[in-house]
Formats: sequence, structure tokens, C-alpha cells
Amino acid sequence: MADYTLDTQLIHAGEPRPRIEGAVSTPIFCSANFESQNESSYHDLRYIRLNNTPNHIVLHEKLAAVEKGEAGLVTSSGMAAICTTLLTVLGGGGHLLAQNCLYGGTHSLVTEDLPELGINTTFLDIHKPASWEAALHPETKGFYVESMTNPTVQVGELTSVVEFCKKHGLISIIDNTFATPFNFRPLEHGFDLVVHSATKYLNGHSDIVAGAVIGSQEMVDKILHRLNHLGATLDPHACFLFQRGMKTLALRMERQNSNALTLARFLASRDEVTGVNYPGLESHPDHQRASSLFRGFGGVLSFELRGGVESAQRLIEQVKLPVNAPSLGGVETLITQPCRSSHSGVPREERLKIGITDSLVRVAVGIEHPDDLVADFKQALGPN
Ligand SMILES: *Cc1c(COP(=O)(O)O)cnc(C)c1O
Repeated sequence: MADYTLDTQLIHAGEPRPRIEGAVSTPIFCSANFESQNESSYHDLRYIRLNNTPNHIVLHEKLAAVEKGEAGLVTSSGMAAICTTLLTVLGGGGHLLAQNCLYGGTHSLVTEDLPELGINTTFLDIHKPASWEAALHPETKGFYVESMTNPTVQVGELTSVVEFCKKHGLISIIDNTFATPFNFRPLEHGFDLVVHSATKYLNGHSDIVAGAVIGSQEMVDKILHRLNHLGATLDPHACFLFQRGMKTLALRMERQNSNALTLARFLASRDEVTGVNYPGLESHPDHQRASSLFRGFGGVLSFELRGGVESAQRLIEQVKLPVNAPSLGGVETLITQPCRSSHSGVPREERLKIGITDSLVRVAVGIEHPDDLVADFKQALGPN
């Protein structure tokens, strides 16, 4: 499979050959346990929680192929992937470096839960590599970043993160949910571990919650071992939907990349819009870096309107196609105010420091026709 392009791997990698009972689509294995084959290790017994049904195995191979890793692992949610990975990398009181603008759930995990287990995190400005060394402790074990931040869609000094980790013997972990392997494959750039909320683009249809981890066989085995004990397994029914969703990732991302760029350009051209965050715009401060690392700039953008919170709320009420809902990565366009959804758990002062004002609007662009989307935002904004 390694010789094929990502678009082809999405469809064929991991699929059983010969097909099971000739079924073109992998059937759902609705069996908690399987007949013993004289396995010698507990982890080899075939049991859903041990993540080794045929539905899990297909996904593990497909994920590894498309992210160019030795091994992949599917989990019950993105947070399960992140939490299990961090506990494995940092266990026993390790110290973590992390970028200062993280997905809200991850921010809460590292500031509220992990400290109770003796694991502390120092937040860094991901655009200022010169400032990182001062944050190192003797116990520092890992560096956690996101390929694009939510919701301001910044792209940090990702290649510097890899160099810094190699120099100081740290494990580099990247949440690649926003970019997806279609736009960016971090392992090819030297990252050690990739995590995903597969709830978003990988599955792409807003109908399951799932997560993924990809990396070396050795590290993924350790994380799998921990996952088997923590029990955050994906149900085979959800595995089936995830597998089906992944097959169309390339088609969906192509359209979402171009739809988001079209909408970002339209919004930037309007007087009512005071600023648009989208790395595909030449005006975005990270445009150069994003262009050199990514194939496309993803489906998420955010913007501010003249008139602040009230104008933002009015726009959200006036658009007809986008659903006012949190989350992202599905085929339908969603619109939300991050201060009320993804980042409602982050204290207001901290939110403002990372550019998440009360009036910021985020759009997660779907695969509708771009003309319909632009026309909808045009009517919602009113006459120019
Ligand atoms: C949604 C999201 C998560 C959490 O994933 P769940 O599947 O909701 O647990 C983590 N990171 C990013 C960037 C996300 O968008």
C-alpha cells in the first residue's frame, strides 16, 4: 500500500484480502469475545475492549497508511486518544510543554486533571522558539502542539518543535485534527506521535465520536496497552461508520479547502468584517509557513464583525444553510461562537489573550456548493 497515493490508500489500505465471505464492505463484527486460538498474552485474547476485532484492525492499518506511521490505533473519542497518549508519554510525574492555544477539552485535561496525577504543563508561545528552552525541567518528557489552532487557525513553528524535541530528547505529539493527513502528515516531518479527533474530518459525517493515535510500533503498542486497561474502546458499529467515512476524506477535504478559501476571500472583501483568520489568505501572518507545510488550509475559518457581539449573533440567526452547532469536520457547514462552545470552559481573560473575543464567529465549512454558501452569507450580511 505504501506505493499508492493517499487518495487510494484511504479506500484500500487495511481492507481484508481476500474479502471476508466475499463482502466488499467489511461487515460489523458484533461479537464481544471470540473463540480462543491459544493466545499466550492477555492482550492477544480477542475481545472488543482489547481493540483487536476485525473492525479495529482494518482501521489501525488504514490510519497507519494514510499518516505514514508504523502503527495506528482507534479510540472511543479524540479526548480518549489524547488522554491515553499523554498518560503513556508522561506517566510518573512527567512535565509537558504545550502551545498556549489548545482545543478546550485538552486545555482542561492538562490544567485540571493531569496536575492531580502529578503531571504539570508549561504553556509556550508556539511562534517564539527562542523562549522554549527556559521552560525545560529535568522531568520534561513531551511537547504537545496542534497543526492548526482552534479557532484562530494559527500555524506554529512546527518544524522548530521537531528540532527542539530531537535536541532535548523529548517526545513530540501533534493533534492533526484540523489539517488531516490530506493536508499535512506530521510523521514525515519528524513528529513522534499524531493524535486525532476522528469525530471531525476523518469520519466526516457528524455521526460518531472517535479518536486515533499514529506513530512507531513501539509507542503505539505502549499506548494500546494503556488503552486496554483504561477501556476507552471504540464500538464495532462506530468502527464501521469511521471506516466508511474515511474512504471519502480526499474528496471532502479538496472541497472543504476550496470552499473555505472562497468564503474567507468573500468575507475579507466585506466592509462589515473587520478581520478574517484563515491561513490561506495572503494577509494571514502564518500564510508563508502554512503554504510551505500544507497541501491546503483546511475547512475552518473565523472572523470578527463591526458591531461586535450583537452583529455576530444577528449573523448567526440570519444565515440559512449553516447550522448553529459546535464541532466541525462534517459535510454540512456549521457556525458557532467559540466563547460559547469549544472555549466556554477557558477563563475569559485567558481566552482574550489568545484572540478569542466574545464576538468572534467560527465557521466550519462543509461541502455544499461554494456559490450557495457565499450567496447565503451575502444575504445574511445585507447590502454592502
Ligand atoms: C474535537 C477535538 C478534540 C476532542 O475530540 P472528541 O472526539 O470530541 O473527544 C481534540 N482536538 C481537537 C483539535 C478537536 O477539534
